[in-house]
Order: sequence, then C-alpha cells, then structure tokens
Amino acid sequence: MSADRFRSPSFWFSTLENPVQPRAPLEGDIQFDVAIVGAGYTGLWTAYYLNQREPGCRIAVVEAEVAGFGASGRNGGWCAYYFSGIESLLADPNQRERALALQRAMFDAVDEVGRASSASGIDCDYAKGGVLIAGTSRPELERLRAGYDEMRGYGFAEQDFRWLDANAFAERARIHGALGGTYSPHCAAIQPAKLAQGLAAFLESRGVAVFEQSPVRAIAKGLLTTDRGSIRADNVLRCTEGYSCRLPGLKRAILPLHSMMIATEPLPDSTWREIGLQGRPTFADHRRTVTYGQRTGDDRLAFGTRGLYYYGSGIRDYFEPSDPAFAHTRATLLELFPSLSDVEITHCWGGALGVTRDWMPFIHFDPHSGLGAVGGYAGNGVAATNLAGRTLAELVLRETTERTRFAWVGHPSRQWEPEPLRWLGSQGVRRMGEWADAVEQKGRHAGMFGSIFDAFASH
Ligand SMILES: Cc1cc2nc3c(=O)[nH]c(=O)nc-3n(C[C@H](O)[C@H](O)[C@H](O)COP(=O)(O)OP(=O)(O)OC[C@H]3O[C@@H](n4cnc5c(N)ncnc54)[C@H](O)[C@@H]3O)c2cc1C
Repeated sequence: MSADRFRSPSFWFSTLENPVQPRAPLEGDIQFDVAIVGAGYTGLWTAYYLNQREPGCRIAVVEAEVAGFGASGRNGGWCAYYFSGIESLLADPNQRERALALQRAMFDAVDEVGRASSASGIDCDYAKGGVLIAGTSRPELERLRAGYDEMRGYGFAEQDFRWLDANAFAERARIHGALGGTYSPHCAAIQPAKLAQGLAAFLESRGVAVFEQSPVRAIAKGLLTTDRGSIRADNVLRCTEGYSCRLPGLKRAILPLHSMMIATEPLPDSTWREIGLQGRPTFADHRRTVTYGQRTGDDRLAFGTRGLYYYGSGIRDYFEPSDPAFAHTRATLLELFPSLSDVEITHCWGGALGVTRDWMPFIHFDPHSGLGAVGGYAGNGVAATNLAGRTLAELVLRETTERTRFAWVGHPSRQWEPEPLRWLGSQGVRRMGEWADAVEQKGRHAGMFGSIFDAFASH
C-alpha cells in the first residue's frame, strides 16, 4: 500500500476538525435495494434524497477511498448556479423553455445545498455571498458583457445577474485591472470536504450503509463487485465522474481533466480591507483558461486554475508543491491581487473533474435494468450534483417530474477520441486558450485562437 494513501487529498481535508478515519470496506455478498458507486456529492446526494423519500429503502454507497476523496473534497467550493452547456440549450428555441426551468432549478440548487446541509446538522461554512466575475481587459469585458446581455435577454432579472462598472466592482473586490464585471447572488462559498464528510456521516446515522476503501471492479444489471465482496441490488448507480475511465468499457466516456488549487495562510483584517470580498463572494476573471477563488471560512484565499489532461486518461491524486502547475496558479493569483506577493502559500493540491465530449453533463437511468449513471459536470458540479441527486432519486422511484424532463436526463454524448488524438487535441485546445488569453490581455481580440478554443472547450 502506497504511503500516498495516508496523505491528505486537499487543504479542505487537512483542516477538518478530526482526521478522517476510513470506514470499513465491503466484505461478503450483501443484498440492498439501491447500490451507489462513488461517495462524492452525486452519490451522497442521491442516497440522501432516496433516504428522505423512502426511509425504508435499503441503500449502500460503495467508495474506492473515503467519502469526498474525488473532486467533491478538493474543489474550489463554488456552489454556483452555472450549468455546463446551458448556453446551447438556451440558444435552441425548441429547448429554451425547459432550459430556462433548468437554470432556475440551478438557482434553487444553490439554496437547497444550504437548506439541506443545515437541516442535517452539517456545518460546511456555507456563505451565500454571490459570485463576482471581472473583465481585466477590454476584449474580456466585452465577452463578459455579451454573456450577460444574453442571459438578461432570456428574461433573467437584475436580481439574477447584475452588471457592475469598474467602481461598483471595486466596492466588492479590488481585483487588479478589473474594468468592470458581473455579480450574481446565486453562489455560495462552502468548505467542500466538510460537506462530503458531513453527508456521509449523516447518511450513516440514517441507516444508509457506507463502505469505503472498496474499489468497485465491475458493474452489471443487479450486481456490483469489489475485490472482497459484492452487492446485489435492483438498482445500481454509477457516480464516479472523472474516475469513470477506470471502469471496464468506459475509457473514452468521460475525460479526466485536472484542476489545481492553492491556499494562502489566514490573512489579517488589513489585507481584507484592501482586497474586499466582504460577505465571502466567490470570484474569478473571465480568461478562457479558467480561474476561481474564494475567501475561506478561516479567512484564507483558496484559488484555482485549470490544470492538465494526462495521456491515456491518467489521474493524479497527489501533487508535490514543487509541481510547475502551482507556479502558474500562484502567478495568476498575484496577477489578480499583486499585494499578496509576500503571503505564504500553505497548501497546494489538485484533482480530476469529468468532461464529456460535448461538455454537457448527463443523467442516465434505465428503469428496466435499474442501471444508472451520472456525471460530466465539467468542473461545475457543486450545486449541479445536488440537482442530479434529487433527479436520480426520482428516476429510481420511477417518478416523472419537471426535473426528470430536463435535457441532461438521457442526454447522449459521443465518446472521446482514442489516444494519441485525445491527448494531442487537449494539448492543442489548451494552447489555443493560453494564446487567446495572452492576446486579450494586450487589449486585442483573440480572433481565431479564441474561436477555436470556444468551439472545442467551454466552461
Ligand atoms: C480542483 C477542482 C476544483 C473544482 N472547483 C469547483 C467549484 O468551485 N465549483 C463547482 O461547481 N465545481 C467544481 N469542481 C467540480 C466538482 O468538484 C465536481 O463536479 C463534483 O464534485 C463532482 O462530484 P461527483 O460526486 O460526481 O464526483 P467525485 O467527487 O469525483 O466523486 C466520485 C467518487 O467516486 C469514487 N470512485 C471512482 N471510481 C470508483 C470505483 N470504481 N469504485 C468505488 N468508488 C469509486 C471516487 O473515489 C470519488 O470519491 C472542481 C473540481 C476540481 C477537481
């Protein structure tokens, strides 16, 4: 067993009040009504809503490591309204009405995470301070404005999306070079690992079985198998996101793309007076290669940038602080807040998120076989997993609701290309994004670089 297994997956894990003790693995052959593979938010919320609706339903969650080990315990803690791929659904007149309902359901999911966690006694540092996106160059600001106008054009109100000029933006956050930007109240900052671990403990207290250290090797109708046991269940649900490629037959279904994060030491009041972020709004600029940050519950800045795709759908669970990726993340943080140059970076980590070929998440459930699968949030899953969990629970209960009619239910995405095309493509698209960002930072339009990037990767 590698020593890595005992290291902390993220800053969020390493600052939990109590060190995580892995639960017992699955041993022997057991019968349940519903078996869920993966104890990230998707699996945990699905179990949560099933248990709420049908307390007598026998549910097992089977996790390869510990609850929240994947993206759910590593993310930026933006519990945000954004749904990957919503732009294309809204743009299609035939889909618009349901897409608008889906967007409103995402607004509600942000609140539901707060409601459900608080009703379950889970303190995950939830603070609904909204989200600020800055335009730090003219072209970036224009793209941001176009997206804002589009959303307002669909009928979303000032209360949903607000345009801020440079002064109004600076009242909320002093991001270097911000020429203006948007504010939406539909985002809460959370402590991700507290939510994942809290949900797992709550589920256990409600009689849901949570098996950890139990990698599932195979999933079939009515059956999942691990090295030391198996579960027979009428419904078997795969909630394995970026890790899905490790399961038989799924190598090209979801691409594991990494994202990298750093956290500073706790910052004094004087620094917060300087940079703003009162009320803990999350923040980003609008570069194509993605930034995201939050003021944590213990007054640090946690900040992330998009990382790499590794050849052959490789997944890295641990990174050395000396990894060059963190130099980029740190340099980007200093671009936004140059006054933090002397601040100590105390934590560095990364994780794999899951991306489908069309960057659209999916919820699949076949009522005949009882097999289900959910994923592909493309780095926007903290709130969406809650909506997915509620929806999948309804599908398992064979119900038809507004949620089960949303476009991601049954949405097919085609497979990713075989290697080396997958790796070459991801390298090329990434490079286009970097070039486009560099051109825009000089105040020029990104032209072809930007268009190619936008055609192949959206966020
Ligand atoms: C660094 C980073 C930053 C991010 N920031 C944000 C953000 O700020 N806001 C946002 O909305 N989204 C963000 N995301 C994305 C978000 O975290 C995910 O979309 C969300 O957590 C997905 O939850 P999940 O349960 O589907 O997947 P995961 O949390 O990845 O859970 C999958 C679980 O399945 C387990 N598993 C996999 N294979 C098996 C198997 N064979 N047997 C048993 N168990 C298995 C894994 O160990 C894992 O625990 C970020 C992601 C990363 C990596």
